[in-house]
Amino acid sequence: MSQARQLITVLGATGSIGVNTLDVIERHPERYGVFALTGHRQIDRLFDQCVRHRPAYAVLDTPEAAQQLRGRLAEAGCFTEVLHGPEGLVAVASAPEVDAVMAAIVGAAGLVPTLAAARAGKRVLLANKEALVMSGALFMQEVAASGATLLPIDSEHNAIFQALPGDFRRGGDDSGVTRILLTASGGPFRCTPLDQLPAVTPEMACAHPNWVMGRKISVDSASMMNKGLELIEAYWLFGLPAERIEVVIHPQSVIHSMVAYADGSVLAQLGNPDMRTPIAHALAYPERIDAGVRPLDLFEIGQLNFERPDLRRFPCLALAYRVLEEGGLAPAVLNAANEIAVDAFLNRQLGFDRIPALIAATLDALPTGPADTLEQVLAVDADARRKARELLPRIAQPA
Ligand code: NAD
Ligand code: MG
Repeated sequence: MSQARQLITVLGATGSIGVNTLDVIERHPERYGVFALTGHRQIDRLFDQCVRHRPAYAVLDTPEAAQQLRGRLAEAGCFTEVLHGPEGLVAVASAPEVDAVMAAIVGAAGLVPTLAAARAGKRVLLANKEALVMSGALFMQEVAASGATLLPIDSEHNAIFQALPGDFRRGGDDSGVTRILLTASGGPFRCTPLDQLPAVTPEMACAHPNWVMGRKISVDSASMMNKGLELIEAYWLFGLPAERIEVVIHPQSVIHSMVAYADGSVLAQLGNPDMRTPIAHALAYPERIDAGVRPLDLFEIGQLNFERPDLRRFPCLALAYRVLEEGGLAPAVLNAANEIAVDAFLNRQLGFDRIPALIAATLDALPTGPADTLEQVLAVDADARRKARELLPRIAQPA
């Protein structure tokens, strides 16, 4: 083994990506140690994870929750120090002892600690796509300035990263890369008659055909806003304009994305739909380690299919192309309005088919400007949430 043992902070350890990350880490105790785990409000799960992985730090939402966990850990003979709140998250994301940070908090809440990890020059394993969507230019500048290593965890972006030439420079045009083909499963409603979409329930939306994920990204996958966010994510990570990033529906989720080259070659990365593959890839990069993933059986799969996305069925995807063209703060507004819409849908206050309408109305209502500072991004995030909540009752009742 060529590297020293790495100390890892897992932001969002109690979520779907967090749990998969700990599963991979645990398979390689000689390579990885856990520095910190964060869990927001999931005290029981974070307690179990602390007892098992013995991190130096754990972080929860409130001082009360932190106090409770501290007491339980002391009783269990576990000496993890418990912090709380956004300052706690920033501290464990940027501490000098940390080598790599898994950024797996869901939504805008992950922006500040993920940016702190980038500023501190860490190896940043980016699952929290919303952070990059909100602050793309700023985030990439911080990475360049600090010399941080940014490795994508999103399966599509990880696949693209693997299919790009090793010396690929963001936006570099001498690589022969002509297009990125961003694959999408199409989610659970790819073939549902359009007139049945208003009756979709949260349970139906969260039952993804190929992946087991947190609730927010499951709804995003069903509306294809997830692909919209991923389009913006790909734009920032790889520096290709939107017209050279093509979304391809591939219902089996075996090809995780592709890169097309000037000579006609198309390179794809394949694998079973299991997030431990991109997680292990990014943890060990440029080496390869066992991820516990079942080998791909092409005979069992038999067929790979491809379709063009239908923007009438998935208006969220069209909204993502719109904000990418508008630039500046528009993607941050889209992201905030989407978080409010998804939340309202999960709380049965908004129909599934009305999610794009609420986002579009929020975008129409807010002026946008340049996204030069973190303060501007956070301010527009707050404004857009307020506006979306204000518009919600009207949008929820179609005329
Ligand atoms: P999840 O809902 O399962 O977990 C979210 C984690 O964030 C939990 O640990 C939770 O405690 C924490 N959290 C939630 N709100 C918080 C807040 N306000 N402050 C601090 N922490 C908070 O979500 P997930 O499916 O693991 O997704 C995490 C991120 O990874 C998302 O950005 C998602 O888009 C991305 N991602 C997930 C998958 C997947 O397969 N699950 C795939 C690609 C990308
Ligand atoms: Mg993805």
